[in-house]
Amino acid sequence: MKTIKNPIVSLLSMLLAAFVLITACTNDETEVLGTEPDTSELSSEDKNALLFMLEEEKLARDTYEFLDGLYGTNQFANIKLSEQSHIDAVVALLNRYKIDYTILPYGEFYTTEIQGLYDQFVAKGRIDAINALKVGATIEDLDIVDLDEFINATSNTSIISVFESLQCGSRNHLRSFVGAIENSNETYEPQFLSIEEYNEIINGLNEKCGG
Ligand code: MN
Ligand code: MN
Repeated sequence: MKTIKNPIVSLLSMLLAAFVLITACTNDETEVLGTEPDTSELSSEDKNALLFMLEEEKLARDTYEFLDGLYGTNQFANIKLSEQSHIDAVVALLNRYKIDYTILPYGEFYTTEIQGLYDQFVAKGRIDAINALKVGATIEDLDIVDLDEFINATSNTSIISVFESLQCGSRNHLRSFVGAIENSNETYEPQFLSIEEYNEIINGLNEKCGG
C-alpha cells in the first residue's frame, strides 16, 4: 500500500507545487505591470495635449480663486476645488509618462493665449457678480470644446479616460454657472459649443464623474 500510494502523493504534490509556482508568477507579473510607471513613448501631440490641458485647468482654478476672493458666490469656492482635482489628474498622467512640467504661481501662465484669457476673465469678472458667473460659464464652454478636440485626436486610452472625466466635470460646472445666471434673470450665450450641444448639456441632469 505504502509503495503504491507514495508515488501518487508525490505526483500530486509536484502538480500542486507547479500550479502554485505558475499562479505566483502570473500574479507577480500582473503586480509589476500595475505598479510600474508607463514609460512607453507618447506622441508629441499627446504630450502637447497634456501640457495644454494642465494650463487650461490651471486657468479655471486660478480664475475661480480670484473670483472667490471678490464674491461670496458658492460656485467659485466649490468649483475651484474641483479644478484642483482636474489639475491633479493631468499631473498624474504627466508623471506616469515622465513628462517634465512646472506649475507657475497663481495668475501666471506659459502660453500667451492662456495668459491673455486669464487677464480678460479677471477684468470682466471684476465688473460684478453676474459677469463673474458668465466668465465661469465661458471657461467651461471652452474647456468642453478643447477637451473634445484632444479626445478626438488621440488613440491613447488613458488620456481619453482622464479627459472624458474632466469633460464630465465641466458639464456639471457649466450647468451650475448657467443655473446661477438664470436665477438672476440673465442669460448666457454659448461662445464655443454649438447651440445644440449647449442645450443638450443644460437640459441634462447633474452627472457623477469617474475619477
Ligand atoms: Mn476642469
Ligand atoms: Mn470646470
